[in-house]
Amino acid sequence: MIPDVVEILQQLIRIPSVNPMGRDVPDDPHYCEQALSVYLEQFFRDLGVGVWRQNVEPRRTNILAWTTAPADDRQRPIVMFEAHQDTVPVDGMTIDPWQPRIEQGRVYGRGACDVKGAMACMLTAFARLACEPSAAQPMLVMACTVNEEHGFSGARRLVQSWADGTAPMLPRPPDQVIVAEPTNLQVMVTHKGVLRWRCHTLGRAAHSACPDKGENAIYHMGHVVLQLQRCAESLIQRGGDPRVGPPTLNVGTIHGGICVNAVPDRCTIEIDRRLGPDEEPEAALQHVLDWLTQHAPPAERIQHDPPFLVSRGLSDRGNMELAARLQQILHRQGFAAQQIGGPYGTNAPFYASVGVPTVVFGPGSIEQAHTAAEWIAIDQLHTAVDVYTAVGQGATITR
Ligand SMILES: [Zn+2]
Repeated sequence: MIPDVVEILQQLIRIPSVNPMGRDVPDDPHYCEQALSVYLEQFFRDLGVGVWRQNVEPRRTNILAWTTAPADDRQRPIVMFEAHQDTVPVDGMTIDPWQPRIEQGRVYGRGACDVKGAMACMLTAFARLACEPSAAQPMLVMACTVNEEHGFSGARRLVQSWADGTAPMLPRPPDQVIVAEPTNLQVMVTHKGVLRWRCHTLGRAAHSACPDKGENAIYHMGHVVLQLQRCAESLIQRGGDPRVGPPTLNVGTIHGGICVNAVPDRCTIEIDRRLGPDEEPEAALQHVLDWLTQHAPPAERIQHDPPFLVSRGLSDRGNMELAARLQQILHRQGFAAQQIGGPYGTNAPFYASVGVPTVVFGPGSIEQAHTAAEWIAIDQLHTAVDVYTAVGQGATITR
């Protein structure tokens, strides 16, 4: 029996899968994806399809399922659905995050929009296609990845397994990937990437009664921050991709000094640089470093750590045909879907980086994601199920 999408979504919301976002949360059952992974594995086993658990980190496991064994037909196209298992934290929420509530055509709860709603739609479509396969149907893979919200390590590990041949169900990388994120039923073909790193300025400590005996690292950082602001303004003026806007730079945190009566010997900031869809992360980093070398002396007092997050943008080179076919399906459903760009990052660039046509598509708006009263519209869920089902039947495959 094919389960109902709203019922599945409620089950997903009831299982907390909060991303620790770098916090230390040993054994707190609300954090990490472990409980949700157990649910997903059982969901697929109940369908009688193949399942693979790919351990990524402790208590964090990608769950993959597939409808047809590759040995059946190695020429059969492979379509992959992808949805991340983690949600953002629940601090400050004004609704019960894990008790789903249905009201006025909406489902409320943490992850309803990002991205358990779309995951429920993909699971429903996958179950339909697994229970009633057609002869011409592609091999369908459903990948439920971990840690999208803070480092993309699940998607990164999955792509690595294609390269080293350790993914048991896949004779080769998929022929196309649909990544679930809230796009309001529009077809996202491009989005920005992100680069984050820490920058330190170094001084010399002294008693604040004799500041001339020391060298103030916060004063050095003042120059650096001012120059980064100018650098950020120059990026905006550069213009950029019409659908995602120009690249940006933001200084998000600053820490320096130990107490008010000492000259600080160290100050640290964290920098967030959003990349254009086709921008190389290395070149973007070098541009900022060169800017500081040129404008913010003394260079020997500035240190940059290697980036702690690098994720390319999604380029629309390579996914236009898939996007157009997805639009056709949506038009048949009565939706005038557009090709759009997004300002936020997703797992999609990791799949696109190995040459797989990849687009982002799902129900719900990004404006409802991560909010204090997160929700998704039930009518969008039903539409997305029909669209994913058509994709899984091979409607986007060129024959
Ligand atoms: Zn998401």
